[in-house]
Amino acid sequence: MDVTVCDVGPRDGLQNEPGALPAETRAELVNRLAAARLPRIEAASFVRPDAVPQMADAEVVVEAIERRDATEYSGLALNLKGYERLVAAGLDRVNFTLAATDSFSRRNANQSLAEARATAAEIIRRSELPVTVTISVAFGCPFEGKVDPGVVAELAAELAGAEVVLADTIGVAMPGQVRALLERTRAPGVHLHNTRNTGYANALAALGAGATLFDASCGGLGGCPFAPRATGNIATEDLIYLLEGEGVATGIDLDAVIAVAAWLEDVLGRRLEGQVYRAGAWAG
Ligand code: ZN
Repeated sequence: MDVTVCDVGPRDGLQNEPGALPAETRAELVNRLAAARLPRIEAASFVRPDAVPQMADAEVVVEAIERRDATEYSGLALNLKGYERLVAAGLDRVNFTLAATDSFSRRNANQSLAEARATAAEIIRRSELPVTVTISVAFGCPFEGKVDPGVVAELAAELAGAEVVLADTIGVAMPGQVRALLERTRAPGVHLHNTRNTGYANALAALGAGATLFDASCGGLGGCPFAPRATGNIATEDLIYLLEGEGVATGIDLDAVIAVAAWLEDVLGRRLEGQVYRAGAWAG
């Protein structure tokens, strides 16, 4: 396997859906993705259910997962309480998310950036599980506009004990920026949204800059049809199609992921953002 693809659909995808799916259905999505040989799946989010009702009952989701050895199951935490719940639930990896700007940190995690940095350091120091830290709005912020790459580089350096992922949370990055920031920070991972149709170009730019970890969501889940600005992740199956076509091994069963996207389309009752699940893979 040349790169690791992490499917964040059960978390980043479903948390942006207008309605909450039952925990059993969310666990079924995780199980189907693992059966398709996804090496990593972000299975749940340990946030307050009143803040994000779509992610309620994270413990029930984790309980209903049929563990497979080849898959690493991660979860999202935004504070120490979430981290403690995640560890107690028995997941394999912690994904702590920290914003590159103070405004986004206050809106998304209800804490200042300084507090979030202290929490990240504490989790890295304390955790027996491997830790990923995702720097959200690393390229652009809905409240503060363009983000200074120097600020992101400083944050990434501070997080040296963790696996760092740079996130284009609102889908505004350009390939040149992605390449430059990855080269500057040496971060191994990217989390890309296809909001303005630059997501796959950005993925290729990241690959060229040495990225080895790519977040994506099955079907491109996360693009909410009822929201004025759809913000879907790049689609897992579209990314696999592109990577494998470029000679990069993912170890994932593309046809099986396509089948999961088709299943999701039925579950959600609408067409998803991804294109490869509709067009089909082409063996050429
Ligand atoms: Zn995201």
